[in-house]
Parts: sequence; structure tokens; C-alpha cells
Amino acid sequence: MKLFIINSGSSSIKYQVIEMADETVLAAGLVERIGETCGRLKNIAFPETRNEQESVIEQPIPDHHSGMLLAIATLTDKDKGVIGHVSEIGAIGHRVVHGGEDFRGSMRITPAVIEVLQRNIPLAPLHNPANLDGIRVAMDIFSQVPQVAVFDTAFHQTMPPRAYLYAIPYALYETDRVRRYGFHGTSHWFVAKECARLLDKSLPECNLITIHLGNGCSMTAIENGCSVDTSLGMTPLEGLVMGTRSGDVDPALHLFLKQNKGMDLEAIDTLLNKESGLKGLCGMNDMRDIHKAAVAGHVRAKLAVEVQTYRIRKYIGAYMAVLGRVDGIVFTAGIGENDPIVRAESLKGMEAFGVRLDPEHNWLRTKEARCISAPDSTVRVFVIPTNEELAIAREMAQVLRD
Ligand code: AMP
Repeated sequence: MKLFIINSGSSSIKYQVIEMADETVLAAGLVERIGETCGRLKNIAFPETRNEQESVIEQPIPDHHSGMLLAIATLTDKDKGVIGHVSEIGAIGHRVVHGGEDFRGSMRITPAVIEVLQRNIPLAPLHNPANLDGIRVAMDIFSQVPQVAVFDTAFHQTMPPRAYLYAIPYALYETDRVRRYGFHGTSHWFVAKECARLLDKSLPECNLITIHLGNGCSMTAIENGCSVDTSLGMTPLEGLVMGTRSGDVDPALHLFLKQNKGMDLEAIDTLLNKESGLKGLCGMNDMRDIHKAAVAGHVRAKLAVEVQTYRIRKYIGAYMAVLGRVDGIVFTAGIGENDPIVRAESLKGMEAFGVRLDPEHNWLRTKEARCISAPDSTVRVFVIPTNEELAIAREMAQVLRD
């Protein structure tokens, strides 16, 4: 069966077609600049020969509906397409950012599910409406095909109240569901399962700390296979230092910036989400540029890495205290998978906690999942490439089987 995985943003649609028989990616694409003067589709087809064929189309794409039709036309193109006809698509999976407290797992999409997603818009005002656009358009075009929503928040719904509650008036939780939710759940769940496999255990037997370091960054404490704490909060701003997001700050910073800089709440929100993190500290948010600059003597580039890795170390220490026993620490996503410096700095000085890296394995350049800790490390450390689309595909297959 071929699955169509959709991640719909406010002006973009990212997609993949996956053949579930052997879990191969047949095509991956991005429709972007929807609603702008000129839109763009980039599709990479991976036909059976495994020779990649890239197509780029630039033309006005007024809305998500036309964007989806363009993607389908490309996927079914006689020369460069990977499917003969849309009817070959057996099911559609949607990545949905916020499931609130309503969804503890993936759900087959029904009108009732759409209603709940709509109700959750205040929790993710930028993401959920865009996700809903993608769902509506796909339901319109593929009216006979089962569709499944997979939530970034669902894996973290096992967190206990002591981890998810903010110490603010409880009424705000009761009336408006103000609490910590966590995100990147599909990624944490995927690498946790892979880690359990490498440890030769079942996931419920594992206590893990999974660290997703990409443009967005988050860390999860996993006890007996379940998320019991995670660093992103009610929104994807809390916790670790990210590419352009601050992570933890004193909440009174808002008042300070208002009183002393005359900023309004929207400007402060933009500052914390788009102008902070690594970018705020050194002017760059791509870790490859930051390392190059640091080597060339850019003092604040070096400082930015120090601030980010120090925060990671603090959270690892906190999650070790939460878990007691830790079987494995997993690094994943763009930085986590590719950056031996960040990994080494993040684990610096943790020998007393039983964490010891093998420098040779840490510096090895490979895309394979691997153990990078020394043989005498009591906590094993892994690099495991995340694959959110495959995780979504596996989730969908499970939901459709149940
Ligand atoms: P992601 O959000 O998972 O796609 O990660 C994107 C980020 O990963 C980029 O902004 C870079 O900072 C980082 N990244 C990608 N490749 C490398 C690399 N080879 N070395 C260090 N950082 C990398």
C-alpha cells in the first residue's frame, strides 16, 4: 500500500509518498510560497532504479487546494511520476502540531476529530489552522481514502501532572488548559523505539533521555517507554536554546521589555521566537556556520555553542534525577545527528554520572544509527537519525489495522 504523508504549513505543503510493503520513500516534495506572487514546487522522485529525478515548477499557487493538485499532477506525471494514478494512494497521514489533551495517540480523521482540532486552535494559533487546511483539501480531493492525524503532542500525554502543570493559578488549567504539552513527539517516539532495538530490549523496559537538536530543540525523559517530562511547554518556546528561539527565560522579561523598551506583546513574542536562540547570541542560526565562525575567532559564535550545550547539560542532569536509572541517551535531528562538537560539549564532565563518550565513534561520519559511548560507560549514548515521515507512516498503518 502507498501512503501519502502531508505536513501542511501556513504557506507550504511538505509531502512524501511511502510504499509500506518495504517502507521505501517513492517521492518527497515541498510546495511553498502558496498565496504569494510566485509559488514553487520541488519534487524528488525516487523511482525503482534509485536514480533521483528532481522536478521544479514555479508558477502562482493561489491556495492549498491548487498546491495539492500540483503535487498530485507531479506524482502522477508520465515521465517523472512515481504512481500511475491517484487511486494507488491507500491512505493519507497528516502531521498535526497540537492535539491538546484530547488525543493521546493517532486518530482516524472524522468530522468529530476535525471539530476538536478546531477547538484546539487557541493552543497553536499558527500551526493548527494550517494543518486543518491540509486536512480539508486532502479530504476534498481524496474523499474515499482513509486519513489519519498524527500529533506532535500525543507521545507526551503520559506526563504526570507534576511535570505538566505550571505553578500558576490552577483555574487557568481548568478553564483554558494552560499547561505544558511538549512537541516533537513523533521524533522522540521514533528514536526511542530504535534505541530500544539497539539495546536489545522492548521499549517498556527502557529508561531513556532523547535529545532532538535541529532548528527546534527538545529533550524528553522516557520512563518504561513513556514520556514523563519534556522540555518544550505549552508552546514550542520553552526549554533548550534553539536556532532562533530563546528556550527558558525569566517570564518577567516580558514586563521588563515592555517598560524599558516600549515593546508590545507581539513584538516580544517575535523577539523570543524569531530573533533569539543561537541567532540572538551570535547572529547565525546554522550550526555549521557557527562552528566555522568560532574557528575563525568569532567570540560570540563560541559563546552561543557554550550557552546551548550548557543548557543541554543542565536538562540532562535534571532528567537523570527524574529517571534515576538511565539506559541510554539519544542524540537526533540535524545537529544531534551531525555535530560531534555539540554532542561532546553537552556530555562534558558527566563521567561521574556514568556517561563516557568514545571520541572515535563520536567523530565517525556516517548516517547509520550507532552507539558512541565508551565500553565502560554505564549509560550508553547513541546517535539515531530521526525519520518523522516514516514514524507517521508506521503510526497510520497501526491505526488502520486497529
Ligand atoms: P533540522 O531542523 O533537524 O533539519 O536541523 C537543521 C539544523 O541542523 C541546521 O540549521 C543546522 O544547524 C544543523 N545541521 C545540519 N547539518 C549539520 C552538520 N553537518 N553539522 C552541524 N549542524 C548541522
